[in-house]
Amino acid sequence: MANPLFDHLFGRHAGKTTPFLHLPDGRTVTHDAFLKQAARLAHVLSDRGLRPGDRLAVQVEKSPEALALYAACMQAGIVFLPLNTGYTVEELAYFIENSGAALVVCDGAGAAGLAPLCERLGAGLETLNADDTGTLIGRLSEMPDSFDTVERAEEDLAALLYTSGTTGRSKGAMLTQRNLLSNAETLVEYWRFTADDVLLHALPIFHTHGLFVATNVTLAAGGAMIFLPKFDLDAILDGMPKATAMMGVPTFYTRLLGDPRFTRDLARHMRLFISGSAPLLADTHREFEARTGHRILERYGMTETNMNTSNPYEGERRAGTVGFPLPGVEVKITDPATGRTLPPGEVGQIEVRGPNVFKGYWNMPEKTREELRENGFFITGDLGLIDDRGYVQIVGRNKDLIISGGYNIYPKEIELVLDAQPGVLESAVIGVPHADFGETVLGLIVPRPGETPDLDAIAEAARASLARFKHPRKLIVVDALPRNTMGKVQKNLLREAYADSFAALGS
Ligand code: ATP
Ligand code: MG
Repeated sequence: MANPLFDHLFGRHAGKTTPFLHLPDGRTVTHDAFLKQAARLAHVLSDRGLRPGDRLAVQVEKSPEALALYAACMQAGIVFLPLNTGYTVEELAYFIENSGAALVVCDGAGAAGLAPLCERLGAGLETLNADDTGTLIGRLSEMPDSFDTVERAEEDLAALLYTSGTTGRSKGAMLTQRNLLSNAETLVEYWRFTADDVLLHALPIFHTHGLFVATNVTLAAGGAMIFLPKFDLDAILDGMPKATAMMGVPTFYTRLLGDPRFTRDLARHMRLFISGSAPLLADTHREFEARTGHRILERYGMTETNMNTSNPYEGERRAGTVGFPLPGVEVKITDPATGRTLPPGEVGQIEVRGPNVFKGYWNMPEKTREELRENGFFITGDLGLIDDRGYVQIVGRNKDLIISGGYNIYPKEIELVLDAQPGVLESAVIGVPHADFGETVLGLIVPRPGETPDLDAIAEAARASLARFKHPRKLIVVDALPRNTMGKVQKNLLREAYADSFAALGS
């Protein structure tokens, strides 16, 4: 095949007049119309001088046009580089410079701020869809609606996707055609996607979850999406009767549960609810099943590898686990000190190998050497275990591990105890500097709405169920935990904010 990824996800839908995107304003975009627009965009990008292998940085709000840019890049062999719409111009400087993007596409409003930056870095700048003809969309009507697909090999780069920056500076993961294709094909089988599926899609399309999982699996199956610009409860509840499946981050599900309009009846005809990107709380699992009769399917992925593991479609979906390695993907748990593979049940670093694993970090050879072993295993930075039945459990991030007085402490173990106490909505446990122990344990508690948790009783419960070195030295009530757009708790921010907790106490 000339361009395996484009052909598989997009090309074979040419001429299909079935819906691909259902938009909140009632409009529908067919597969064929979408591909014609992508072809026109591919012409505009080529005319603009972009060549196969060049990077196109895209910071635009979610829309059919934004998605068509992805298809256009795949057809023209251009490396797609989507960027978080929340990034400021200062933040964007890093991504544009690090990637050496040839062209930056933004929404109308962002152009004035970006112009001096692009000029300084020698990148072109275009706006996608403002109302004048100087924009990409404005030029489309003059373009032919077919484009000669550029030949690409499976090892060629398809996308450069930056990590979320939860644990440090974002890194650009080089994703090949094969990385994306293998995952899309596997997931269609694993989650039983067909052309009859209609996915409720409210995730951003600048992350692996919304783009390379949710969108690619729908495309690979030839299905449709209810394509919402963002998570909006009314729009979700409105779209659900027309949908068959939903993918989201845990906060989507807690927000749905918080709305009495979300009933068993509304969810009755849905066949699948999937959660990922951050841990799903046991409470959410339970409440969701009690309310709807559906068991949420939790899965585990990351920028560098797309998807690693998933709970089964049929068979037990085990709460607190992220399921089994996908077919073709190997997962092993190793001792961080020696690299030795650990037996089932023991906590260590999660390593992953398979056709889904990226080619390395763009422009960061040292980081690549540190995290991608010569034998092909990627050291994910997550800690976890494989249980006696083969389910993978994530215990936390390597960087969140607390080392106190020589003991390794996994915050999640303590968070589970705190979360289970009366009046506690959720908690975050972090390690903060301590003169005697190096680090010590601090627990941050978010109360359930309208409740005042009894901190003494919580501390007592922690003492009763955890070894002494794991007892939180202090508990603090906070209104909320800082989260990024994908619902991940930003523990680095918490560590910074509470770094002096014990200095101040003098303990
Ligand atoms: P950075 O690598 O820049 O610090 P990041 O790791 O948050 O950022 P992503 O690639 O977007 O960037 O996120 C992948 C991470 O998300 C995983 O390594 C894992 O820690 C977390 N994650 C994904 N799915 C789950 C899940 N189901 N349960 C718990 N954590 C998950
Ligand atoms: Mg990461």
